[in-house]
Amino acid sequence: MALAFDHAGDGAPRPISSEVVIRMDGVQKWYDSFQVLKNINLEVHKGERIVICGPSGSGKSTLIRCINQLEKHQQGTITVNGITLDSHHRHLDQVRREVGMVFQQFNLFPHLTVLQNCMLAPMKVRGTSKAEAEAIAMKYLERVRIPDQAHKHPGQLSGGQQQRVAIARSLCMNPKVMLFDEPTSALDPEMVKEVLDTMIGLAEDGMTMLCVTHEMGFAKSVADRVIFMDRGEIVEEASPAEFFTNPKSERTRNFLGQIL
Ligand code: ADP
Ligand code: MG
Repeated sequence: MALAFDHAGDGAPRPISSEVVIRMDGVQKWYDSFQVLKNINLEVHKGERIVICGPSGSGKSTLIRCINQLEKHQQGTITVNGITLDSHHRHLDQVRREVGMVFQQFNLFPHLTVLQNCMLAPMKVRGTSKAEAEAIAMKYLERVRIPDQAHKHPGQLSGGQQQRVAIARSLCMNPKVMLFDEPTSALDPEMVKEVLDTMIGLAEDGMTMLCVTHEMGFAKSVADRVIFMDRGEIVEEASPAEFFTNPKSERTRNFLGQIL
C-alpha cells in the first residue's frame, strides 16, 4: 500500500493501493496542427479518486476521452487495467469494457426505457442473459435510488434522475474505473446534489474515479488528488488541502481566483 496525499487535510492520509489502473505515458494529441495534449503523464491507482479541473478548452475532456479511446492519441501509451493502448489502437474493445463513462449530456437512448438502457450493454457486449441483465440493472437502479423509474423513458425523468440512470447504466458493466466529464454541468442547481451524492456513494464503495468537475466542494471532500490542466498540460497536481490553500503555479492561482 502506498500512502495518498494528506487526504482532506485532516492529517490522516488515506491508504491507496499500489495497483495502477490507468497509466498515461508521454501522451500527445493534436487536432490537425493544434496540440491539445502535451506530454501527459498520469497514474491512477485502484480506489483512487481524482478530480481534474482547469479552464474551458484546456484539454480535460480530450484527456479522459483518450482513456476509452473516444479520442485517439498520436503519441505515447495509455494502459488501462494492464491493457496497453498504443497509437495503433489495438485492444480498444477490451479497454472499453473496463471503463465506464458519464457525460455532461447523459447520452441515454431516448427510445428505450430506463431499464432497457441499463440492460443493453451487458446483453450486447457481455452476452448476459435477459433475466440476469434485468436483475443487474435493477440492482444498480436501486443503488442510485430510482428503481421506481425503471419503466419510464428518459424524457419523462428530471435531469438529475437521468444522470443517475447514466451512472447506473455504466455500473451494470461492472467497470474497473469510472470517468466523469462534468456530470453536473448541465443540471439545474437543485439537482446537482443528488448526482454528487451518488458519486460520493460510489467513492465510498471504493470505485476508482477520474472526474472532470468544477464542483470544488466535491473535490475538497472526496478527491485524493486534484489535477489542474491548462493549455493541454498538467500544470499542477496536489492533495485538495494543498491545492486550495497553497497552489504553486500562477496559472492555478488565477483559475482558482475566478471560480472560488
Ligand atoms: P475542455 O474539456 O478542457 O474544455 P477539450 O478537451 O474539450 O477541453 O478541448 C480542448 C481544445 O481542443 C479546445 O481548444 C477545443 O476547441 C479543441 N477541440 C476539442 N475537440 C476538437 C475537435 N474534435 N476538433 C478540433 N478541435 C477540438
Ligand atoms: Mg470539456
